[in-house]
Amino acid sequence: MKKILMLFTICSSLIFYAQKKYVVVIHGGAGTILKNEMSPELEQQYRDKLKEALTSAYQKIKQGKNSLEAVEAAIVVMEDSPLFNAGKGAVFTSDGRNELDASIMYGKDKSAGAVAGITVVKNPIKAALAVMQKSEHVMMIGKGAEQFAKKEGLEIVNTKYFWTEKRWNALQKVKKAELKTNQPNAMNNLHYPSNYWVDRKFGTVGCVALDKDGNISAGTSTGGMTNKKYGRVGDSPIIGAGTYADKNVGISGTGWGEFYIRTSAARTVAAKYEYQNKDVKTATEEVMLEIEKLGGDGGMIALDKNGNVAMTFNTEGMYRGTVTEDGEINIEIYK
Ligand code: ASP
Repeated sequence: MKKILMLFTICSSLIFYAQKKYVVVIHGGAGTILKNEMSPELEQQYRDKLKEALTSAYQKIKQGKNSLEAVEAAIVVMEDSPLFNAGKGAVFTSDGRNELDASIMYGKDKSAGAVAGITVVKNPIKAALAVMQKSEHVMMIGKGAEQFAKKEGLEIVNTKYFWTEKRWNALQKVKKAELKTNQPNAMNNLHYPSNYWVDRKFGTVGCVALDKDGNISAGTSTGGMTNKKYGRVGDSPIIGAGTYADKNVGISGTGWGEFYIRTSAARTVAAKYEYQNKDVKTATEEVMLEIEKLGGDGGMIALDKNGNVAMTFNTEGMYRGTVTEDGEINIEIYK
């Protein structure tokens, strides 16, 4: 009898474990995030902010709101924090500006919105959402996107709002490394000393959420890569590269954008899921492997219609976190 009871307890806890349903997953960027280089205070700041982002998204889901609102809520928290490379705290372009990119997609009807190269809109994710909901287009860039955001009543800030010392210093460091190379403008790591890439891509933010109606949304927001040139746009605002959502799965990526564009990273995860019956973990791992083989790095998060989650990366760390249906929050940073 005792044995049967024990077996029952083990089985039911296994069933409980297997049924754990995730409703929100976020990332705050992937990169060389090493525990021995992080002070306990800074680590706590990251954990607190990730928790705040997850909580605000979870509140929306709990209230029965649309997953788009949850994604927007989580990303706004991270855009407003100087800790992440999105909104305030964005990295600098080679000419010392902050050019922001963001995108959002709703899985149910595959509607999507994106902005690129904007400099004065406080929350780029709101601009992406406005493009999706209030225009006939999917993507707007630069001055036109800003004009549209103003018209839609979004908060506009002085460009100085985005300036942070940490990112400014990162630009100076990268520029110094660049001087040591004889191929200053080549976007090819083979021509650069390895430290050139340090600090270039950290802290892009993203979120995927699943609402009570079973609809998935995904969004991503970034300042791009430090020292980016000539109006460079990465994967984050490109639907299918940095962000994707359909009725099955939502994905947000972070990393060396050129490789995510070349592999149609986010869309490929969804295609593997739909056409090859791969689960989110396998699908993201396979895409990350392809990115790695081409020479890129980074990570991605994915969430499917059944509440299965993946947080895959090939860097030293990725700021990341999840919330389950019952409100349990989990945050991780390192490998
Ligand atoms: N993917 C972003 C870009 O290439 C950067 C990042 O995720 O850190 O613009």
